[in-house]
Amino acid sequence: MAEKIIGIDLGTTNSEVAVVENGQVTVIDITPGHPILPSFVGLADDGSILVGEPAKNQYVLYPERTVKSIKRRMGSADRVELGDQSYTPQEISAIILRRLKAIAEAHLGEPVHKAVITVPAYFSDAQRQATREAGEIAGLEVARIINEPTAAALSYEANHQGHKKVLVYDLGGGTFDVSVVGIEDNVVEVLASHGNNHLGGDDFDAKIVDHLVAHLQAQGADPTASRRAMARINRAAETAKIALSDQPYVRIEEEYLLERDGTPVNLVLELARHDYEEMIAGYIDETLEAVHIALKGAELTVSDLDEVLLVGGATRTPIITERLENDLDLEVRAEVNPDLCVATGAAIQAGMLAGESVSAVLVDITPYTFGTSAVHELNGMPYPFYYVPLIHKNTPIPVTKSEVFYTMHDNQKAVNVHVYQGEDQDALNNIELGQFTVENLSKVPSGNPIILQFALDLNGIMQVSAREKNTGLEKSIRIDNVLARFAEGELQTARERVDALFADVEAGDAARRVGPAGATDHQLTAQARALVEKAERLLDQASDDDREDLINLIEQIKDALAGENFTALREPMAELSDLLFYLES
Ligand code: AMP
Repeated sequence: MAEKIIGIDLGTTNSEVAVVENGQVTVIDITPGHPILPSFVGLADDGSILVGEPAKNQYVLYPERTVKSIKRRMGSADRVELGDQSYTPQEISAIILRRLKAIAEAHLGEPVHKAVITVPAYFSDAQRQATREAGEIAGLEVARIINEPTAAALSYEANHQGHKKVLVYDLGGGTFDVSVVGIEDNVVEVLASHGNNHLGGDDFDAKIVDHLVAHLQAQGADPTASRRAMARINRAAETAKIALSDQPYVRIEEEYLLERDGTPVNLVLELARHDYEEMIAGYIDETLEAVHIALKGAELTVSDLDEVLLVGGATRTPIITERLENDLDLEVRAEVNPDLCVATGAAIQAGMLAGESVSAVLVDITPYTFGTSAVHELNGMPYPFYYVPLIHKNTPIPVTKSEVFYTMHDNQKAVNVHVYQGEDQDALNNIELGQFTVENLSKVPSGNPIILQFALDLNGIMQVSAREKNTGLEKSIRIDNVLARFAEGELQTARERVDALFADVEAGDAARRVGPAGATDHQLTAQARALVEKAERLLDQASDDDREDLINLIEQIKDALAGENFTALREPMAELSDLLFYLES
């Protein structure tokens, strides 16, 4: 059997090693269940070498004997101090590579001599040469150095036939790169690249750290002089940031962070995703500008691109996908774990060089989108069944996502939660999987936050829970088999629904089904009811004249609804909607 070649992502913050086994890529665990090696090297108290997590853990306490981000210095003549010795960047990188080599050998049960190592597309010849030397120092023959975006594209497109152009958007801990990559029958080529090698998830952490420090300072406690306190604040900030990728709020709690006048100071603060997103908006803007610069470099425009591939842990921040989808109007793919796809691609390249056949990377993803309904504008009017997806199709599973919703009325006693599968903006055109009601909500003004959580596991079991944020009052349901194809009954219903639409159109009765702004009967009915409900709530506070108009319009709408006269709804709905707008502003 040919000798194994391993694939290595030698990253600024984290490194990974992967290999092809039986035609499939395995990213090898560093510790059980954990395939990521922090790119940190340090000296322990007793002078022994620490690599990865233990070195990272001591960084804030002993920066003088810990090295991080050595990748930034590759190709320079710098030397770094570690204890009483100094080392070249190649030597430090070699320590990381040696650890990865040993991990691969333990996994494979055989010695490893060759590797494919990835580097950023912008690396100069000197930086590439330094990486090659690091490999050699570690006892690895570097079979090939490949560009990180090339590797990422390979992880998605191994065995791709035909050609396409993709944008690889890579936001890691400390660096950002965006590359335009052309793929032609398995030949992957970087056409242009742009980035900022001092922008990444660490900067997002820093924004949260600033916020936390300001919060403490406002209470008269200043943590900035204490290294230990700042280390804890940094960790808390990163943990909070990661939590906010899946939930709308996070509670940050660090007890006994400091002492002030002999009394302990605790840090207790809640951070909302929305506020966090505002903190980092400037950074996201910067990355989008870089996208356009890279496109210009490749002499292409957005319309030449087929899709965006996400790479790097920080791309799990949901606002990034949202902005890329909205600003570029492209499909954004993240099925291959963004932390592991560069190593995966390196292993695919390594497998090809070793003459192994490599099949496409298999990941467990949900083929369906799941969401709920909420009141939102549809076709210019408030509509109570507006679809709000929580888990998008192609998301790797298991996955847990939560979002916040707000009650509509003062003293609202209950909320009804619907769970749907589908893509349509109108939830009623999707498949309803279940519903439940949370009762006995607190007597508070409208805007009471309710946190809805969807947790989907590999067996297709979905747990949906809704929790009143302020009290913790919670209700949940479990829905089985959500990944199975439509059950026969549902398929039948869907078929009938589609048939019914066509039947009406074929009977020349399209106008009856489709209302003023393209809305269908049920949308129109629901919108009309929502308008009436809203108008009734505003009756008390309206002036006499307005109240008369409101009552009039409400009656016209109710009459039309009772008689199922959908065409007669148009005028009074438009008038009522204008009047409400005026009354509310
Ligand atoms: P990488 O260099 O690609 O390993 O990316 C590391 C960066 O991704 C660090 O800043 C992490 O804090 C960040 N990161 C990891 N997971 C998440 C997440 N779920 N949401 C946001 N950022 C994350």
